Amino acid sequence: MTLLIYDDILLQHDTGFGHPENARRLENTVRYLKENKLWEHLRIARPRAASVKEIGLVHPQTYIETINQIAETGGGWLDSDTVVSRASYNAALHSAGAPLTAIDLIMKGEEKNAFCLARPPGHHATPARGMGFCLFNNVAIAAKYLQSKYNLEKILIVDWDVHHGNGTQDAFYNDPTVLYFSMHRYPFYPGSGRKEEDGQGKGKGFNINVPLSFDTMPERYIEIFTDVIEQRVNQFVPEFIIISAGFDIYKKDPIGGLNMEIKDFGTLTEIVMKSAERHCNGRIVSCLEGGYRLSVLPLCIEAHLKALLQV
Ligand SMILES: [Zn+2]
Repeated sequence: MTLLIYDDILLQHDTGFGHPENARRLENTVRYLKENKLWEHLRIARPRAASVKEIGLVHPQTYIETINQIAETGGGWLDSDTVVSRASYNAALHSAGAPLTAIDLIMKGEEKNAFCLARPPGHHATPARGMGFCLFNNVAIAAKYLQSKYNLEKILIVDWDVHHGNGTQDAFYNDPTVLYFSMHRYPFYPGSGRKEEDGQGKGKGFNINVPLSFDTMPERYIEIFTDVIEQRVNQFVPEFIIISAGFDIYKKDPIGGLNMEIKDFGTLTEIVMKSAERHCNGRIVSCLEGGYRLSVLPLCIEAHLKALLQV
């Protein structure tokens, strides 16, 4: 079975009226998955809260305490679009805890793969700074957790969100043990993600950015995606694969858009699964990042889940 990690606590991160990253993204998805019965084919598990020590694998204690303080004193803004509400600290601990919950069950051998239907998202959060709707970098914490708790050496993070995951790149820029592979629209928010940003020191060559023009069509996208997985990832031989699953590459996403159709999320998932089968017993944890077309997000997630379920 495929794990789906979800809890209503994740709805409590309140971004305010009109914000694209809102609780309805998850509410609509849960309702849709229950209505079309896919929910019954998934193993639903609630996320535990990540501990401060686990968040500290990526973020300095001072930053974690700042987020806690802002929440406790009623909330505030980290930048013009990143909100911390009263319940956001607790929601963010559970959003970061979602992949950790999944990892524990997968490493026990109970399941092969998981999707974390969680928010706030994470890939823009750098170690020292939240931004772009993100408070803690969920996938970066998950990668560090796999290394520290389970002694895995090589982790792959595949990021297909339409935006570059600058925070994830920052977290592992000097690190050859975590291969970060991002395909994203460029030039676009947050401004980083040039091809030349390919890592530093020992990490040189372990950061793969594929910037794409806004008019890149799905066939071309999938062709490049396949090439990188086959050539670079197969060479790296990951022991676990984490996906930063952004559904804002969907063609009509209101703040992204890269011409992708709903069915393409199934195709991308299958390509990653093939690599996971080859290298790491199919072990994949996928984490929700972007995806803001409220009426379509549940269908994109459905395509992703149906592929994951084919294990
Ligand atoms: Zn995004």
